[in-house]
Amino acid sequence: DSVSKTFKVGSRFRAGGIQHLHALQDVSIEVYPGEIVGLVGESGCGKSTLGRCLLRLYDVNDGRITFKDRDITGLSQRELRPLRADMQMVFQDPYSSLNPRRRVGDLIAEPLRVHGKYSAGDIQTRLRELMDLVNLSPDFLTRFPHEFSGGQRQRIGIARAIALSPSLIVADEPVSALDVSVQAQIVNLFMDLQEKLGLTYVFIAHDLSVVRQIATRTAVMYLGGIVELGETDRVLHRPAHPYTAALISAVPEPDPHGNIKARTILRGEPPSPTNPPSGCRFHTRCPVAQDRCSAEIPRLRSLGDNRSVACHFPLDGSVAAHA
Ligand code: SF4
Ligand code: MG
Repeated sequence: DSVSKTFKVGSRFRAGGIQHLHALQDVSIEVYPGEIVGLVGESGCGKSTLGRCLLRLYDVNDGRITFKDRDITGLSQRELRPLRADMQMVFQDPYSSLNPRRRVGDLIAEPLRVHGKYSAGDIQTRLRELMDLVNLSPDFLTRFPHEFSGGQRQRIGIARAIALSPSLIVADEPVSALDVSVQAQIVNLFMDLQEKLGLTYVFIAHDLSVVRQIATRTAVMYLGGIVELGETDRVLHRPAHPYTAALISAVPEPDPHGNIKARTILRGEPPSPTNPPSGCRFHTRCPVAQDRCSAEIPRLRSLGDNRSVACHFPLDGSVAAHA
């Protein structure tokens, strides 16, 4: 609606040296109002951690998180409460985030009740609006989560997340647990809601085809850092970072003649983020690594086409997609 369109969302984020499993290192990302930023990378690369840090669900050791031009890095959970309505999370497995003993109507109404500004009548009206927005029958409100398919449960999770009209949603692999046919429906729902409600998303996925469909910009993460960031088309069609290129060519894709393109398999498993390689963290798996790569950390720098890359020897972008 028109109110949420007037919201200005801006998240500036920088964090370094979080000492737990999915450590982030000097990550900096800005999310603009109304855009969809895709976060991709192998599991353990820190995508979920970054998403949770943005919403202050995790604390950062150092760095700064701003939301709508306000520095929220140091706010206590109590101070954050009024902002919670405006920044929400959608989880990968809606079932585990929905209490099985509560009816769907209760589950979706919970944020409205906690917020305290809705009368019982308002809540009923809002529940019907929300069911309509996520294309579920209002009859479902009196049923329990186990009565629904994975896709329907994700619609319930989304209804709950948008109940208080947030401006920013971090969606952590919201379609990864769903069948491919259902994935497309849920991705379409996200896009539909983004348009109707003027939402801003950080959309986390390990599947490039999902990001390709939905994200305006894409950040590729490797071992706790962003290695490439830019407009999705450019990043995925003309990757500058060897890791992005490897990710892309690891997706089997038929060419126009119906042949499956050769795949570049990434060598080995990603190293542990708690004990990362020196210099460029990708050097142990990079097909074009040189001596400098293990000695010197490549910083994220602009390539001048609205794209940044953290690599000493970026690809020119013409060969990579067919590597
Ligand atoms: Fe490969 Fe070196 Fe670039 Fe790292 S800095 S991605 S090792 S070429
Ligand atoms: Mg994750």
